[in-house]
Amino acid sequence: MFEWSEEHRMIRDAVREFVDKEVRPHRDELEHGDMAPYDLLRKLYRTFGMDQMAAASFDRRLAAEEASAGEGSAGEGSAGASRASSDDEGDGGGRSSGFTMLPIIELCKCSPGMVTAMGVSVGLTAAAINAKGTVAQKRRWARDLLTMEKIGAWAITEPSSGSDAFGSMLSTARRDGDEYLLNGSKTFITNGPYADTIVFICKLDEGNPPAERKVVQFVLDSGMAGLEQSKPLRKMGLHSSPTGMLFLDDVRVGRDRLLGESEDAFTGRQGREASKATFVMERSGVAAMALGMIERCLELSVRYAKERVQFGKPIGEFQLIQLKLAKMEVARLNVENLVFRYLESSAAGVPMTLAEASAMKLYAAQAATEAALEAVQLFGGNGYMAEYEVEQIARDAKVLQIYAGTDEIQVTHIARHLLA
Ligand SMILES: Cc1cc2nc3c(=O)[nH]c(=O)nc-3n(C[C@H](O)[C@H](O)[C@H](O)COP(=O)(O)OP(=O)(O)OC[C@H]3O[C@@H](n4cnc5c(N)ncnc54)[C@H](O)[C@@H]3O)c2cc1C
Repeated sequence: MFEWSEEHRMIRDAVREFVDKEVRPHRDELEHGDMAPYDLLRKLYRTFGMDQMAAASFDRRLAAEEASAGEGSAGEGSAGASRASSDDEGDGGGRSSGFTMLPIIELCKCSPGMVTAMGVSVGLTAAAINAKGTVAQKRRWARDLLTMEKIGAWAITEPSSGSDAFGSMLSTARRDGDEYLLNGSKTFITNGPYADTIVFICKLDEGNPPAERKVVQFVLDSGMAGLEQSKPLRKMGLHSSPTGMLFLDDVRVGRDRLLGESEDAFTGRQGREASKATFVMERSGVAAMALGMIERCLELSVRYAKERVQFGKPIGEFQLIQLKLAKMEVARLNVENLVFRYLESSAAGVPMTLAEASAMKLYAAQAATEAALEAVQLFGGNGYMAEYEVEQIARDAKVLQIYAGTDEIQVTHIARHLLA
């Protein structure tokens, strides 16, 4: 059975202390958009040596990849390359994945938006470049993203294509001599307003019908001619994670920005496998976020139930309040078990199936939203006030049911597997 090790607990406590000392005092500024999350994230990385570890691990992987390419076997984006890029320090995935999960869980007790900003930059943008980029592309863009020196955005969603991301995608790349012209608009893009590096996902327009077009991905730099990054959008919650739109009007790029330098990098089995690995990783991250939020709701609610007196007794003595606490604890145990199951299967080298990851994400997102709304109720009028924190968690938790695939899309993935 998986359990946090002594080493995990030490790291967890240190991160918790960092969050209380460095992040919590800025909660108001982060909440009201007066402060972007990036400097705090960089401080987290520096404090725990995460930047140096990421750089060292990246350099090792790239050296191995270059060596195997030198043997003449590994073309760019080959199986050898993707194995190397998913290297987990050789200690079994569970232990190192555990170290990745702990900052997610602890940061979510204060600022889930910071986790989204970090997750999209490192877990999606850098990961996309690492999974399919050439050695030169990884060196040019992925290293700085992994160390958080640069901020990344990963752009697939468009105003008319969300859940049906590829089916209704309108953004295009058109060949123009040796170059490409990129056009389209993207929305709801995490880090979009401030990203230095953007992975832009679109379809190759060869004059064929949209449904038959290949999916291609390009890496863009902020400030390129024809690329506009909007201001942050106003939203319900997750205020510490800037979200924006991107507009591309004839952005001219060379083949060096085409991910994998191949128009076929995202077609066929390899393309599907890469997408699946991204979905599983993203969904496990959401479960860890949910765990942090539920733990915080429980902690605040237990404390409040002991302190708040009505009808001459602490409200924790009323059975209806006890039921809320008990349900939160059940949710905490279940989500923690799902996170542990993910870590255990990573350690065993048997990745979760897409359906399992979907089930985990669906349950965890709903449990976090429910726990947060119950916490608001338990706090009464204070629960509705920003000072008492639970209203922020309730607004932030809701997004877990929307991004990384909505609840309804997770249901379709689970059902498809069951009915196959
Ligand atoms: C805060 C935030 C950050 C985000 N960050 C990013 C990002 O960094 N990059 C990025 O590319 N995108 C990002 N997104 C976009 C996100 O992935 C989409 O919002 C999500 O996939 C849903 O798409 P949609 O909003 O277009 O909703 P739609 O797809 O229009 O869905 C509307 C409703 O219909 C339901 N529905 C759709 N299809 C089906 C079906 N087949 N069966 C049953 N019900 C269905 C949905 O579940 C939903 O309830 C972000 C979104 C948010 C809110």
